[in-house]
Amino acid sequence: MDAATPDKTPADQEISAPTAPDTRVDLVGLTREELAATLDLPPAERFRARQLWHWIYSRGVVDFEQMTTLSKDFRNRLTADFIVGRPVATKDLQSVDGTRKWLLKYPDGQEVETVHIPEEERGTLCVSSQVGCTLTCKFCHTGTQTLVRNLTAREIVTQLMTARDYLGEWPYGSKKAGAGNLSPDRQITNIVMMGMGEPLYNYDNVAAALKIVMDHEGLSLSKRKITLSTAGVVPMMRRCGEELGVNLAVSLHAVTDELRDVIVPLNKKYPIAELLDACRDYPGSSNARRITFEYVMLKGVNDSPAEARELVRLLRGIPAKVNLIPFNAWPSAPYECPSKSAIDAFADIVNAAGYSSPVRTPRGRDILAACGQLKSESLRPRKSAIA
Ligand code: SAH
Repeated sequence: MDAATPDKTPADQEISAPTAPDTRVDLVGLTREELAATLDLPPAERFRARQLWHWIYSRGVVDFEQMTTLSKDFRNRLTADFIVGRPVATKDLQSVDGTRKWLLKYPDGQEVETVHIPEEERGTLCVSSQVGCTLTCKFCHTGTQTLVRNLTAREIVTQLMTARDYLGEWPYGSKKAGAGNLSPDRQITNIVMMGMGEPLYNYDNVAAALKIVMDHEGLSLSKRKITLSTAGVVPMMRRCGEELGVNLAVSLHAVTDELRDVIVPLNKKYPIAELLDACRDYPGSSNARRITFEYVMLKGVNDSPAEARELVRLLRGIPAKVNLIPFNAWPSAPYECPSKSAIDAFADIVNAAGYSSPVRTPRGRDILAACGQLKSESLRPRKSAIA
């Protein structure tokens, strides 16, 4: 066969060559130290890790070629060996009230939801910590999806970065943001770890992600703008306060162990008295920085005036505020939301005792983006499929 003759038959040509899997390392989600170690820079070039951090977390740039303060050689090396990854948003839904929900898919195919809730004075991003949840709270949709796995620090931090991509909120424009500058009306001012999962059951990854989120040379959200919500993983609460110093929200939902054992089964492990002691000890809480007690209002279950009075008694001595959450229904949910007057009567009793007790306005119910409605189709792979 001479050199000009094609050495493939036409049939062969139709079969495309298998593309090699991308083995490049994703730099997102590493601590500063890990980033420097991964880049393996000679001592004289350590400053490059800091420059890169700035491009990734301050400017939101994903393409090394656009990182113009880096030398051409360094950019080439980065492109060959690394990526700045993002999950794929497989759904992008917008509610009539402006709430927006993304279903994000990670490289292993698992999915979680992230929700943006715009308000007059602020914009809150509700971030997930696990694919599914182990807690099986009876009123929560995510609780009907068994835990598939913990999210990594990268997967937690990229929820914020992807939301910024879609909202066009990076200072100097990322691909999706076009060339726009940072909007004076920031759309994400606050983060709540209130999406799918129990953040204190995935503490290490949540902590690593939040440290990146709080880094002053990067995403730069203050700990005062971050709230972590827990169903009450008592042994992890102190550490969370000491190491992260974020605001704490506690999903209380009942005033007796008898009822809480049923609707928040974690209570059998850490009953109300122990949980409230951990709240009393939460580092950094004060009258200026109160712990939020979430209380989902379930018709005929936990919404009586007597329960409101008991709630007030239980909270005595704790710098607290109460967030009443009207139950958000989901397909075949076993509860109903009480009437507005029943919720208001409950709120009045708590208020009269000196606790602020706003009723949380349901947001994004039409796209199943409200509290407790999040769920993805992710399933735990069968053992046989893993083997
Ligand atoms: N696992 C953590 C993080 C989830 S936060 C926690 O339990 O705190 C989500 C909040 O919404 C929790 O307070 C949860 O109890 C509440 N919630 C769950 N299902 C709900 C529903 N159907 N209606 C209203 N609130 C709900």
